[in-house]
Amino acid sequence: MSEINCEETKRQVNEYLHNELSAQEVQDITAHIANCDSCETDYDFEVLFNNVIKRSCDEAPPQELAQRIIDRIRAIDSGRVEH
Ligand SMILES: [Zn+2]
Repeated sequence: MSEINCEETKRQVNEYLHNELSAQEVQDITAHIANCDSCETDYDFEVLFNNVIKRSCDEAPPQELAQRIIDRIRAIDSGRVEH
């Protein structure tokens, strides 16, 4: 996994929200936000969760939830899950 910085994360969040990024980019951003208090606050991570995971909002800890988003995005990207 490549590392991205806060600036890149902030630049790409709109594409992130509109599902215009590749699975790898989404993974990088999700991983960054999950480990960066600054970006997590900036992005209102709850909004990201609501957009990306519409069905399974539970009380998982942030890192587990981020992994779940990554898994789900991968599934969508590979065509295994209906949009
Ligand atoms: Zn950051």
